[in-house]
Amino acid sequence: MLEQARQLLQRTFGYKDFRNHQDAVISALLQGKDALVLMPTGGGKSLCYQIPALLREGTGVVISPLIALMQDQVDALRQHGIRAAFLNSSLSGSQRAEVAKAFRQGTLDMLYVAPERLMMESTLTLLDECPPSLFAIDEAHCVSQWGHDFRPEYQQLRVLHQRYPSVPRIALTATADMRTRQEIIEQLALQQAQVFINSFDRPNIRYLVHQAGSNREQLWRFMQAEHAEDAAIVYCLSRHQVEETAAWLNAKGRTALPYHAGLPAPVRQAHQQRFLREEGVIVVATIAFGMGIDKPDVRLVAHLSLPKNIEAYYQETGRAGRDGEAADAWLAYTMQDVILQRNMLEQSGAGEMHKRIMQQKLNAMIGLCETPACRRQGLLAYFGEQLAEPCGNCDNCLNPPETWDGTVAAQKALSCVVRTGQNFGVQYVSQVLLGKADARIHRNRHDQLSTFGVGSEYTLNEWRSIFRQLVAQGLLMVDMNAGGAMKLTADSRAVLQGERTVQLTRQQKTVKKKDAASHRRSQTTVTDTVLSAADQALFERLRSLRLTLAQQQEVPPFFIFHDRTLRQMAEQRPATLEAMSAVAGVGEQKLQRYGKAFLEVITAGGEQ
Ligand code: ADP
Ligand code: ZN
Repeated sequence: MLEQARQLLQRTFGYKDFRNHQDAVISALLQGKDALVLMPTGGGKSLCYQIPALLREGTGVVISPLIALMQDQVDALRQHGIRAAFLNSSLSGSQRAEVAKAFRQGTLDMLYVAPERLMMESTLTLLDECPPSLFAIDEAHCVSQWGHDFRPEYQQLRVLHQRYPSVPRIALTATADMRTRQEIIEQLALQQAQVFINSFDRPNIRYLVHQAGSNREQLWRFMQAEHAEDAAIVYCLSRHQVEETAAWLNAKGRTALPYHAGLPAPVRQAHQQRFLREEGVIVVATIAFGMGIDKPDVRLVAHLSLPKNIEAYYQETGRAGRDGEAADAWLAYTMQDVILQRNMLEQSGAGEMHKRIMQQKLNAMIGLCETPACRRQGLLAYFGEQLAEPCGNCDNCLNPPETWDGTVAAQKALSCVVRTGQNFGVQYVSQVLLGKADARIHRNRHDQLSTFGVGSEYTLNEWRSIFRQLVAQGLLMVDMNAGGAMKLTADSRAVLQGERTVQLTRQQKTVKKKDAASHRRSQTTVTDTVLSAADQALFERLRSLRLTLAQQQEVPPFFIFHDRTLRQMAEQRPATLEAMSAVAGVGEQKLQRYGKAFLEVITAGGEQ
């Protein structure tokens, strides 16, 4: 049976080998067992159910949360010659009847439905008539009421187990934490399922974190230097910030589209569509954007503010580089973000218990931002995974920050906060430390304090950074109800009394450019091929053919071939269809449909 699966992998999908336990998952399903698959984004979850659905009797039913994406999911499968359809409210009554008919006749390999549609009696009756080959529950973390993608309908999916005990079920998610795993098992009654856990490392993503004043300008410089023409997602905290940032990027000459829950659905849909179908589009979004977006060639995910927790950060940055090629996760935050997030939580109507958990999660996120150690090690450790060596592909590995003993500086800062009555913000207290008596300081007689001018060894910016780190470390808090005044915390006293030391970091100014040799990758290896000029030129021509073909069919370019496939073509320059079929990602159907056209471009390129 597994031999057949392997043939299908090669013939239909054009890949040589299984990866990330795909073969073991497939084999479990082929034996009629249930499976829970935890695999990072881009790991290859879909093949785990697509291949068994093709091999087993009956139609594979895929439960997917977003009906807006079903058309695309089905179109992508059809490109491979797979008979796929979906059932949702966007279809007319007669179209739905058509799909139901195909289902009954057994001429469908896969059927996509949303959970609420599946639970309708009419759908269940249809399934009673012709038992499906399997149920695939995609984005299974939607059952978790603690998660940010909670969908109550998902919890009803446990009836599948009771109603169709002999149909194997596979639940899949890229969410890594233990609590969610446990909840999926319980909510979906998957106690008997085989569990497949992969490393959550995304070695091709480079993590970069900045503590910044003017985030946007920094982002722009980074984009110009590294992603001038790439597709990107920029996450912002508020709708207002989304609109503003998108307009600003457009004014700079990039194509940037806003996306947030306040926009009408057709606008959101149109922007998502353009992001998928055009090349080099930037979506500027609140967290409302991204779930289920399978665009493989997003080269940059940027955060212009601090994410609420590490789960969200991991999930959002995970949308970069699904195709396994090098990508960046870039984050810049300010002390203002830390204060804002802490206050939002404090003032939220949530119960004490919930608040406390959320506070801890936020602190872990801040800790990850402030750490001088390897970001990837920190990130994976949060999900209970040990990475033996520093990764070599994050800002702290590439450009180690200097740590220094900041105890004395912290003492000066804290004592100046005390002497000014815990009534002032960073700017004011810093000026006192620097000994700059402006009118306000003079009026308050703070130029008479013993701490006036004791901090002149640092610049204003350095004091800002020190205060930010003290707030981040919980040694100071900022009271927004008192105009941003800094106050001591329970932990401050030990510092003031010299009972505890404070480690601070200093970011070095330069960020190293991508350097292939320095990418010591942890587990998976990433092929960061650098094309020769001639190959690059051919690659561009292949891309432009791809875009034309995609536009003709009104599908995203990556439905036809991924960048990686085109890059391989440019390098290997296959001269026959047979040689082309050896390129990864060229399956039978695609070879038949597109092989000739791409071959022509390649041979024409050779003559030039
Ligand atoms: P996920 O759903 O886990 O995020 P996908 O199923 O979309 O990931 O797969 C990510 C990419 O990896 C897709 O382009 C897919 O075609 C490719 N892929 C999947 N399995 C393999 C494999 N065994 N070998 C090579 N590429 C694969
Ligand atoms: Zn690292």
